[in-house]
Amino acid sequence: MNSNSVFGVFQIATCRFILWNSNLAKAGSTRLPLGENPRALYNLASLLSYRQSTTMSAHTIDGVLLSQQLRAEIGQRAASLSAKGKQPGLAVILVGEDPASQVYVRNKVKACGDVGFHSVLEKYEADLTEAALLDRIAALNADPAIHGILVQMPLPKHINPHKVIEAISTTKDVDGYSVLSAGELMTGLTGFRPCTPYGCMKLIESTGVDLRGKHAVVIGRSNTVGKPMALLLLQANATVTICHSATPDLAYHTRQADVVVAAVGRRNTLTADMVKPGAIVIDVGMNRDDAGKLCGDVDTAGVREVASHITPVPGGVGPMTITMLLMNTVEAAERT
Ligand code: NAP
Repeated sequence: MNSNSVFGVFQIATCRFILWNSNLAKAGSTRLPLGENPRALYNLASLLSYRQSTTMSAHTIDGVLLSQQLRAEIGQRAASLSAKGKQPGLAVILVGEDPASQVYVRNKVKACGDVGFHSVLEKYEADLTEAALLDRIAALNADPAIHGILVQMPLPKHINPHKVIEAISTTKDVDGYSVLSAGELMTGLTGFRPCTPYGCMKLIESTGVDLRGKHAVVIGRSNTVGKPMALLLLQANATVTICHSATPDLAYHTRQADVVVAAVGRRNTLTADMVKPGAIVIDVGMNRDDAGKLCGDVDTAGVREVASHITPVPGGVGPMTITMLLMNTVEAAERT
């Protein structure tokens, strides 16, 4: 929302306020001087606070900077493990030629090198059999130089992704996608947290805001983002609401939220009028705008004028996802 539209909203709201008070007078309600009328005072205070907060510009939570800081810490932990002869190792498996997946695996392997990990990239043709893939995973489960195993999704249609994920040893499930890892998260055990929600938690933590007693709204309920995100927020003592495509009035929920995490995959899902002034907004979405530019689920320009903290796209959640994969891998190595 730009300053003109903010002023416009303020003017409309002020007119409504005056009308509301004159309607009270017409209806013969007890008229009190403004200073003695608590409801009128409350409304005026809300209006003024809305005006003040809608003119604020949110602090950008810089995922690139936070990633750099965390990767420096991961590098130190890797160096101290390597000094003891236990260099952290990640195996990345790619089946098929999906162009986006090729970029993702390349970035993951490069990131491993940057923090001093040993990494293995295994690329297979799209016609690799499910049995052959399961055999490779069994071998990597038994390999002491490998502490984390990641199979890049999506897999070709003839391979069952659930079977593959469940074949990865829980101690090496650094993506945190297996049923056991999900159960560990749900019951508060120390399993591996899925990387994207784990990264979102680090971004929220970086604001210094204590989540205890705050109301967090998660938009999206996928197994990899929305659901684990909600569980992590719950673990941090937030009161959590999960919204999804069957939620009838999304704005009703988001307007009450101190923290909103948008993980939908549809741009402009969250706009300024849906955000409580001062909220923290985390944008997980990855979409394209009309010009083909990467954008999130949040109308960043508008929401920035209402929120206290916001993640940009790109440069927010994206870089944190690989960083948390590295974090899980170093943790896996430390646990062995
Ligand atoms: P997903 O599996 O497609 O889940 C999307 C969720 O959004 C579903 O739960 C769906 O509800 C809900 N939804 C759809 N339309 C909605 C609406 N109009 N109102 C409220 N909820 C709605 O996607 P995902 O894997 O969770 O990913 C979500 C987004 O995050 C995507 O853009 C993805 O590319 C991005 N992402 C980014 C990163 C990163 O590193 N930056 C990592 C992972 C994902 P139903 O369950 O009812 O269908």
